[in-house]
Amino acid sequence: MTRDAGADLLVRGLGRLLTMTGDPVEDAAVLVRGGRVAWTGPARDLPAGLGDVPVLDAGGRCAVPGFVDAHTHVVFAGSRRDEFTARLAGVPYDGGGIRTTVAATCAASTEELRSLAAARVRTALGHGTTTMEVKTGYGLTPQEELRMLDVIAWLDETLPVRLEATYLGAHVLPEGRDRGEYVDEVVGTLPEAVRHGARWCDVFCDAGVFTLEETRRVLGAARAAGLGLRLHAEELAHTGAARLAAEAGCASADHLEHVSAEDARAMAAAGVVGVLLPTVTLSLGSQAWGQASVLRDAGVELALATDCNPGTSWCESMPFAVQLACLAQGLAVDEAFRAATLGAAHALRRDDVGHLGVGARGDLAVLDAAHETDVVAHLGAPAAWRTVASGVQVE
Ligand SMILES: [Zn+2]
Repeated sequence: MTRDAGADLLVRGLGRLLTMTGDPVEDAAVLVRGGRVAWTGPARDLPAGLGDVPVLDAGGRCAVPGFVDAHTHVVFAGSRRDEFTARLAGVPYDGGGIRTTVAATCAASTEELRSLAAARVRTALGHGTTTMEVKTGYGLTPQEELRMLDVIAWLDETLPVRLEATYLGAHVLPEGRDRGEYVDEVVGTLPEAVRHGARWCDVFCDAGVFTLEETRRVLGAARAAGLGLRLHAEELAHTGAARLAAEAGCASADHLEHVSAEDARAMAAAGVVGVLLPTVTLSLGSQAWGQASVLRDAGVELALATDCNPGTSWCESMPFAVQLACLAQGLAVDEAFRAATLGAAHALRRDDVGHLGVGARGDLAVLDAAHETDVVAHLGAPAAWRTVASGVQVE
């Protein structure tokens, strides 16, 4: 959505509207002009003389800001079926399956990668997502990582979705590579990654993956190259990654299954958003659901994401992440929707999405429900009825 022309649209017939800037509004309408929110409020207060504006009648349904998916890996090829089957039989996850996807992704043509990823983004749009972060990390050579960034740029230009590209060269150590040399190569690729559209740098800092020292080095170089910082932290074990995220000024630390109260306090003090990925916990069968309350108690702002990837969370649906956040992680319904919109926008340091204040992007997910609570309660049902991006109905 790089060109982002935007359109005029009046969404009316909203039985309920969550703007994330104030209390829910009953019997509401939203007016979008030139792709931006121009007015929201009770329909009876709608200004007169709107002229010939296209109308979407929501038929009494509830709408929220378009979902912001703050953590995905949607550019990939191949299958992790065997690993999934083994996990169902009790084999624990150690991050090694990433190499299976690296081999398949490097073997795929650019055409194939584009079409596979575009289908996933389309699915996400159908679930109400209008902004997504997308990571590299299945290339693991400079050439292949930059090719992934080019695919992300193509998706952003081609599809009606806002993408945030993240360079994740330090996703896993490629087989047979010397650790120091590989980290040098990741650091050396940063300036090129910026030229290929990366806005963020991420590292999988965890037991058996990249160490605190290696991560500190990559993050320092990434900051010098002008990239924003985020981190895969405390997923497999407690390593100190969340505290490093606070020290390094990361916008977010993601996963956090093993985060401590002390880590959480450091994150809160540094303004690091905690990104919850409950579909991963479900998919891994780890039962590590407790981090949300640790983070909340410390005052960390919460975000939600799908972590859409072939191995540990094959899921494009933010409403499903919202359901799990409520049912398994103990978030309140309003807290989960806020994390899936405004919190996730803050994790991406964007103030133009994740809410429907005047001037925000005209992005809405109209839910196929009269109330947002019904989306959490109604399991297995499609949650989104229509998706609007920049005032255009895109699904
Ligand atoms: Zn991830």
